[in-house]
Amino acid sequence: MEQNTAPYREHNRTSLTKEKLKQGFLDNLYFIQGKFPTLASRNDYYLALAYTIRDRMLHRWISTATNYYESGARTVCYLSAEFLMGPHLGNNLVNMGIFGMVKEVVEELGLNFEELLAQEEEPGLGNGGLGRLAACFIDSLATLEIPALGYGIRYEFGIFEQTIVDGWQMEKTDKWLRNGNPWEVPRPEWAQEVRLGGHTEQYTDENGRLRVRWVPAKIVLGIPYDTPILGYRTNTANTLRLWKSEAPESFDFEVFNRGDYYGAVDQKVTSENISKVLYPNDEQLSGKQLRLEQQYFFVSCSLRDMLRVLAIQNIPLSRFHEKFAVQLNDTHPAIAVAELMRLLLDEYLVDWDDAWEITQRTFAYTNHTLLPEALEQWPLPLFASVLPRHLEIIFEINSRFLDEVRIKFLGDEARLARLSLINEGGERYVRMAHLACVGSHAINGVAELHSELLKQDVLKDFYELWPEKFRNKTNGVTPRRWMILSNPSLASLVSDRIGNGWVRDLEQLRQLEPMADDADFRKEWWDVKRANKVAFAQYIFKRTGILVDPESMFDFQVKRIHEYKRQHLNVLHIISLYRRLKENPNLEVPPRTFLFGGKAAPGYHTAKRMIKLITSVGEVINRDPDIRDRIKVVFVPNFNVTTGQKIYPAADLSEQISTAGKEASGTGNMKFSMNGALTIGTLDGANVEIREEVGAENFFLFGLTADEVYALRASGYHPYDYYNTNPHLKDVIDLLRGGSFSRGDADLFRGLTDGLLHHDPYLLFADFQSYVDCQEEVSRAYLDRDHWTRMSILNAVRSGKFSSDRSIRQYCEDIWKAEPVPITLLGQNEEPTGFIQ
Ligand SMILES: *Cc1c(COP(=O)(O)O)cnc(C)c1O
Repeated sequence: MEQNTAPYREHNRTSLTKEKLKQGFLDNLYFIQGKFPTLASRNDYYLALAYTIRDRMLHRWISTATNYYESGARTVCYLSAEFLMGPHLGNNLVNMGIFGMVKEVVEELGLNFEELLAQEEEPGLGNGGLGRLAACFIDSLATLEIPALGYGIRYEFGIFEQTIVDGWQMEKTDKWLRNGNPWEVPRPEWAQEVRLGGHTEQYTDENGRLRVRWVPAKIVLGIPYDTPILGYRTNTANTLRLWKSEAPESFDFEVFNRGDYYGAVDQKVTSENISKVLYPNDEQLSGKQLRLEQQYFFVSCSLRDMLRVLAIQNIPLSRFHEKFAVQLNDTHPAIAVAELMRLLLDEYLVDWDDAWEITQRTFAYTNHTLLPEALEQWPLPLFASVLPRHLEIIFEINSRFLDEVRIKFLGDEARLARLSLINEGGERYVRMAHLACVGSHAINGVAELHSELLKQDVLKDFYELWPEKFRNKTNGVTPRRWMILSNPSLASLVSDRIGNGWVRDLEQLRQLEPMADDADFRKEWWDVKRANKVAFAQYIFKRTGILVDPESMFDFQVKRIHEYKRQHLNVLHIISLYRRLKENPNLEVPPRTFLFGGKAAPGYHTAKRMIKLITSVGEVINRDPDIRDRIKVVFVPNFNVTTGQKIYPAADLSEQISTAGKEASGTGNMKFSMNGALTIGTLDGANVEIREEVGAENFFLFGLTADEVYALRASGYHPYDYYNTNPHLKDVIDLLRGGSFSRGDADLFRGLTDGLLHHDPYLLFADFQSYVDCQEEVSRAYLDRDHWTRMSILNAVRSGKFSSDRSIRQYCEDIWKAEPVPITLLGQNEEPTGFIQ
């Protein structure tokens, strides 16, 4: 890549020589932090380093904005209520190609580089897979040089920090901004006003046309905070634009002038509440007014921001959809359909038909869930009180839409009711998924199986209406963060053999397939895994005081805690293995460490009890002198991107055991496989495709298929029968019911066991025996180290499909019609021509 031009080359703030990096670092420590080395805290050093790197990103950022402005290129806008970014510093160093050099610089200054990296508080602005997908996607968009913006919310408090007290989850607020955020730049000059509440009025305009005016009850300001997102070794630096809510000055003053100082302050406080906190529910709608306000807030700011860009680029409104491809990451931003219509109709006076064409050609919708309880719907009265004008527009969209359905399916009243944007069964709701489907030209699922199930089940009626809208875009993850940054030893081992083309083109890893038969390579591969496990064992000891043996198999299940993900099925197997080992100490099973991690939504009591179940079983087993050197159970607290970066590289086995037909895709499964873990899993989500890629012989498959699950439910599922006929299962459940893992308290897990015996909505009992048998196969396989390592290598080198670069290429080709715009860096005499993005 081209470097900075001459005058920049020698500058303390831009040069990439070690000397200038050092000088820049000390300058920033002095001029930004106001500290000498003798007084500086670790955080001062971290910030000085972060600013030193940011300084070196700005030239690319400004050049990128200028290039995009001049090319007028089509821009992808990724709208997501969550961006689970993880720490920026290490990733930026990797993407700039200066990780090793900066490490040396920091060490030559006598500082601990790892400590400085660890000092960064991660921006945890997401719950799990969905938010992390958005983060991987903006990384890939920048690497592929696609003009793109991520639009979201700058939550003051991200996902809570989890601690474990007496085996239970405790939540602490995530004060990620307390030490300052060096990566963001506020852009108050591009603030947007957002209206909320109030009522609508009809009036006749000067041309005698009937119009609608929205008289809001309050107005809040959205302030954009921009973070540069670097591509991997390209000049591209795209933007993540997150909106913070504030009270508008003028509004405060009005109340203030009436002498109501406290009222004015109240106004400020309520306005700031909108972007205050991320809702910590994964796969569960909250139905709270503030959540709807958050969604509308960031969507309205983002669309107005696009209109601002359109205006300064002199592009006519009728070409909005040619300039912008807007992707809706789940239904959280689906209100955008009604908001763009409102902006066009009420503020730009566009005709309905033209506005609707622009809207449909602008949006595309990604569905993320098969769980009915996660499909967002808003009670009509609540919706009307927050967005009265949008409700009118949704009624009009619905009425025109249902007219179309009536013609196509004459006389099919039941179908009309199923398709309607309004759920009329009892209490009335606005169905956000239906709004997204109607207002988009493309609808996609996130794995092959998921996309099929959408067509057969969740969105069947829409598929029958518009089959041409439906697509699949299998998820992916970025190999920059999830391999190079988090598993540098594996990355070097790979690059030593095949160069580093694989980082941008992950399919190249297949060149290593023959190496699976090379004993020396297998030894190196095993040693890398082993070293990662040693490092993780040290981390676990520091965090939990539990000693784990790196010789044992590291078996991980890390993901949000949820019944459908079935962490409790994992526990049932552990108890059954424990029982067998107690009965037969000569059983030949390799030592295994069962590790769990993940957060439970604070209001999801069953999930919180599942954590208590894991920790309680761990307490008994880890204390049992007969067993504790053979199996261990550990709960890793506060699973997030930072801990994930240590976990995936240290895993031998990845547990992907959701009930078939419930997990839309999963992306944790991909990160594990890429890092050489083998998977034990059901045919669910992307597991199906992972198994296809790595080969059935390198994947531990168990359980019912989605079709079998469906058939079993239809024919009447009776979990009690499994309990009665399977003595192993009965043993396990009886131990739990008798209080063996709750110090005799037979009530502690009563709710869980009764729930399984009488309902078992996720069919743990139906899959139990198959899972236990499969785990025995896993244990046998681990005893053959050579064979296991061979399988591990094949898993990693055949995971090329699961790079988010592949996903983004497919979105670009098939949905967004977006092309790369390579960035030429501005020369020293060239003034930037404009800042648009
Ligand atoms: C990848 C990732 C997830 C998603 O994990 P799944 O196993 O796909 O549910 C959730 N949280 C974090 C922090 C992740 O990095």
